[in-house]
Amino acid sequence: KSTIRLLASSQVITSVSSVVKELMENALDAGAASIDIRLEKHGLEKIEVKDGGCGIQEADCTCMALPHYTSKFKSFSDLDQLVSYGFRGEALHSVCSVAAVSITTKTSDDTTARRYRLDKCGQAVDFEAVHGLKGTTVTVTDLFKNLPVRRQVMSCTKRMNEELKKVENVVKSLSVINPGVRVSLAHNKCLIWQKTAVKDLRLSVMQVFSYNLSKYLHHIVHHNNKVELEMLVPKHDCDIKYLCSGTGTEAYHLFVSKRPVKDKDVEKVLSEVLSRSFGNDLPPNKSVLCIVAITLPPDRLDINLEPNKTKVFIKDKEEILSCITDQLDSYYSQAVS
Ligand code: ADP
Ligand code: MG
Repeated sequence: KSTIRLLASSQVITSVSSVVKELMENALDAGAASIDIRLEKHGLEKIEVKDGGCGIQEADCTCMALPHYTSKFKSFSDLDQLVSYGFRGEALHSVCSVAAVSITTKTSDDTTARRYRLDKCGQAVDFEAVHGLKGTTVTVTDLFKNLPVRRQVMSCTKRMNEELKKVENVVKSLSVINPGVRVSLAHNKCLIWQKTAVKDLRLSVMQVFSYNLSKYLHHIVHHNNKVELEMLVPKHDCDIKYLCSGTGTEAYHLFVSKRPVKDKDVEKVLSEVLSRSFGNDLPPNKSVLCIVAITLPPDRLDINLEPNKTKVFIKDKEEILSCITDQLDSYYSQAVS
């Protein structure tokens, strides 16, 4: 049984970046206004995610990392109403089976914080009262210690540096779409990156993509009865080369209901509009920075496709695609005339 558990978990938790993603999503689900992420030795020795969120009720602490435990939906019909990042109750349990985990937490009702040590089945083995502020800190040490081959592969220097880059990308993409949250990322006591809390997506984009983009990006906000669309796209008269990145780097940042996702259809629509509008000015083989955030009512979305949730099904997708096209075409054509 423990082998089955290990196999299942090692598919959810495949790398340092997948741990960081799951823990950061939990912090966001807890309503944290600030999140501090610290790695040691590229995360293989230690990953710590500290949030100022709601904390975990004492009664839930015995089961928080048991398989399929989630506090995020109460009945099956809630699956249609999902607004949180998590809903499967898989992440904490999976991390426990491939690493040593401890969790410190305090809710606004608690007089003191409690620090729990979890075993590899996700059972809380003991706890102690400790000092701490409201919120939750999850500490993950010795990742993949019981999967020696994976640990060895992950320990090669090139691989570790690539993984650190992935962590940075995961953190940045969840940060950009949560403007109001302060986030910091540190490695071996060095601050790699940080973002302050800001008011809106546009300011968030400026913080996350470190150069001064505001003068090159146009902000479009559009609501129709049930779809909310927010885009930052190249200004019609901007020199497009400032927004281009080399081959292979991702420049289209797509979010569906605050989830970073990949979607070939939306990418295609963006490429088509940009080549219509910028024609020969578009350098070949380079991608142009665009941010597209779509917010849909939960019943138009199925995120239950794969464990890492980067693909989603959208109901009546054509309608969304033509909405994006219309908004962009109308901006670019107005701008020209
Ligand atoms: P899921 O996110 O799908 O519910 P997880 O395994 O990620 O499953 O987390 C299990 C449960 O532990 C959550 O439903 C939540 O109740 C609690 N939890 C985990 N992390 C946090 C956190 N940072 N703050 C508050 N509660 C948390
Ligand atoms: Mg979760």
